[in-house]
Amino acid sequence: MAGSTAPIIFILEPFGGSIRRHNASLPFLFWDDAAVTRGDGVFETFLVRGGRVCNQERHARRFAASARALGLPEPDLDYWRSATAEAVAAWVAERGEEAEAQCVWTYSHGRAATGFPSAWLTLTEVGQRQRAQREEGVSVLTLPRGLLLNPQARDWMPAGAKTLGYAEAMSALRHARSQGCEEVIFTEGTGEDARVLEGATSTVVLVKKNSKMRTPVPGGEVLPGTTQEALFHAAQRSGWRCKAKDLTVADLRAAQSVWLVSSVRLAARVISLDGAPLPDPGRGHEREIRALIEEAVTA
Ligand code: PLP
Repeated sequence: MAGSTAPIIFILEPFGGSIRRHNASLPFLFWDDAAVTRGDGVFETFLVRGGRVCNQERHARRFAASARALGLPEPDLDYWRSATAEAVAAWVAERGEEAEAQCVWTYSHGRAATGFPSAWLTLTEVGQRQRAQREEGVSVLTLPRGLLLNPQARDWMPAGAKTLGYAEAMSALRHARSQGCEEVIFTEGTGEDARVLEGATSTVVLVKKNSKMRTPVPGGEVLPGTTQEALFHAAQRSGWRCKAKDLTVADLRAAQSVWLVSSVRLAARVISLDGAPLPDPGRGHEREIRALIEEAVTA
């Protein structure tokens, strides 16, 4: 990759210190990095809009919590923030403020040979698929998942951490796309009574009549989403009643609208579930929810 589409990459020292820009045409990870060999590390994905990082403090908090859950050394968040500011300044200088970017922080257990963690951040263009999903909405396939059905697993599983282990989510999306659906919602159990967990890379938010919003209770198998959290704060300020509650597939069908929310895509309305269309809430309703999300994460 070269020219104006090349990502901006900065490599960080794992314990603080200098940062350096890396030439995106050259490799920088070693073959024995735990990110490569085990997916043993954590990451955060942020939206950069108008030269500003959206929702940065929620992401920073989750990043530190994820690192702790995986036994990584505590990240120096001021150091990550200043590296990000430098990368965003470079992005704006090279692409202009109008160009949205996806910023990813990655922190892994690093090389087996040295035992030192690896840390880097990237800025890339927002993908075509994410842009299209904002505009067009998504058809969704529900897929059962039940990683934590054994309660004793909670003692050791890094629940609530945003780890690099996304092979399962990517397989689920490939499966959905082979079935003619765009996205996935994971459930515990099957059928209409199945408990809704989360999207493959998103949080499920359901809008009900009388200004109510619901999301599955975060924790366990449900990653606490920064976009959903910011949305609920903003919505509550505007008089909505927002709650995390156990939700079923039947609740999704009965909702006024259902959304997959995440940092870069922001919001994609679920237009069908397992092949059955969900009711169209109308353009005015869609615009209102979208505006709330955009205001929430860019505030
Ligand atoms: N749940 C999962 C499994 C995710 O991968 C993501 C984002 O990538 C989310 C939820 C949404 O989180 P956020 O709003 O912080 O981007």
